[in-house]
Amino acid sequence: MKRVFAFSATLLATCVMLGNAQADDHAHWGYEGAGGPEHWAELDPANAACRASQQQSPVDIKAGESQRAALPTLDFDYKSSSADVVNNGHTVQVNLPAGSVLKVGDVSAELLQFHFHAPSEERFDGKTYPMDAHLVHKTADGKLSVVAVLFEEGNENQALKPILSALPAAGKNHAIEAFDPALLLPSDRTYYRFMGSLTTPPCSDGVSWQVLRQPVEVSKEQIAAFRALYPMNARPVQPLNGRVIEVSH
Ligand SMILES: [Zn+2]
Repeated sequence: MKRVFAFSATLLATCVMLGNAQADDHAHWGYEGAGGPEHWAELDPANAACRASQQQSPVDIKAGESQRAALPTLDFDYKSSSADVVNNGHTVQVNLPAGSVLKVGDVSAELLQFHFHAPSEERFDGKTYPMDAHLVHKTADGKLSVVAVLFEEGNENQALKPILSALPAAGKNHAIEAFDPALLLPSDRTYYRFMGSLTTPPCSDGVSWQVLRQPVEVSKEQIAAFRALYPMNARPVQPLNGRVIEVSH
């Protein structure tokens, strides 16, 4: 209990500290208690979609109920670049400069950042994984497209070593000279696709989701390092409300 309390106090301090730096952060949302997911819509009128939208994320992906479809290949044109690792009080987020692009069919979207959740927000047939990464892309006309990678416990992940071995404290950041986001991806690029939302306030919908089917390995120690900062920053799964999840061949 003591640890949970200490964590909440840190989160609160971080929210106060960040102040108006992030417009959608002025209400003290989190993952438990009065600021928890079931209260997000009440915390700020800007968060109305958290309750009102019928297309919320994350979702439980049931393989047997997903529809096989000739989905376009995910073409990751990612480049190695500098990176800024930020602990924003809700997660650890890695901001990247322009240059890495995801092409899905005719649509190109720039990779802006990726961040982590523990446990995974997406589930496969009800199963959670110890962690996930959400790679957030934006098209030229402002639409968001997220690629989710689930992490399972296994060998140390060399690509994530510079990030997970030196996680910044809440409200802090540190720069990495060279990081290649392509190294985060599994070799199998088949994926589930559906329309969803941001999984954090303001829960805006209209977000295109691509969840890679093959998990990537991270070590027990790497999971522990992230979970020491964020033992639980996953929104519960949301109803599909008639949405069909497609799966690529
Ligand atoms: Zn996320």
